[in-house]
Amino acid sequence: MRIRPISLKTRQILAVIGIALILCGLSLKIGRRYAVLTKLFGAKQPCLILMYHNLTTDEAECGSVTVTQDRFRADIEWLKENGYSFILPQDLAEKKPLPDKPVMITFDDGYLSNYTLAYPVLLETGAKANINVIASIIDDGGYAVFCGWDQLAEMAASGAVEIGSHTYDLHNPATGGEVVPGGPNGVQKEESETVPAFEERLSADLSKSVELIEANVGKPVYCLAYPFGENDKPSRAVAEAMFPVTLCTYAGMADVYKYYGHNLPRNNVTMDTDLAELARLGHGWLR
Ligand SMILES: [Zn+2]
Repeated sequence: MRIRPISLKTRQILAVIGIALILCGLSLKIGRRYAVLTKLFGAKQPCLILMYHNLTTDEAECGSVTVTQDRFRADIEWLKENGYSFILPQDLAEKKPLPDKPVMITFDDGYLSNYTLAYPVLLETGAKANINVIASIIDDGGYAVFCGWDQLAEMAASGAVEIGSHTYDLHNPATGGEVVPGGPNGVQKEESETVPAFEERLSADLSKSVELIEANVGKPVYCLAYPFGENDKPSRAVAEAMFPVTLCTYAGMADVYKYYGHNLPRNNVTMDTDLAELARLGHGWLR
């Protein structure tokens, strides 16, 4: 009996099926940890992340990093009325299943108003927030503008606040904390620095921030907010090995499956921000 050779077309189909099976197997294996299947098939887990710095009761003081306490309270109320659930970096770090509409409230720099004006609103409303502090400033006594360790510890103990790192002392201390156009800024590598020297300098700074926060606040640190949102490849390598969650400052909706927890975009809130519009648009910004 003559066996008919397998046609070229059949062989091609079999090859495609074989490759598809291998890819599926690989995706399943890796997917458990990195949600590759979710990524491949386009399903997304959007998380709205808002960024605040300072609060005030005087509208005249408002600007790019300062909003009124009333505005902050109104934002929290709007989020609650619209079905958002408040999450913290720890939830992302532990890869917890997220609620349908997660939102993460973040504050950078550790201003005293986070304790005097934001914290009471969090307690009133049941909302939660992440506060990222420049550990050297807090440790030096806060210069009366920033929180002290006791206030940070009290907020963290309440469960309403999670303290993260905004470095130990890499928030451009030479310029009084101001951004340098063209950089390097914050955790970025100096051009003249070798990579090993840079890695040593950055990990020493970040470790010091974590040790101080954990010792004084009594809770683990899960999150680093890059000063000015700036980073580069060598700094991301160091930071992502040390922190399960890293935060940037470019606007957008975080897709936590895609990034899983790293380089997450955040949306700065000013008095002019239309939160409803921001949330609506955000879903079109998923990257
Ligand atoms: Zn900052």
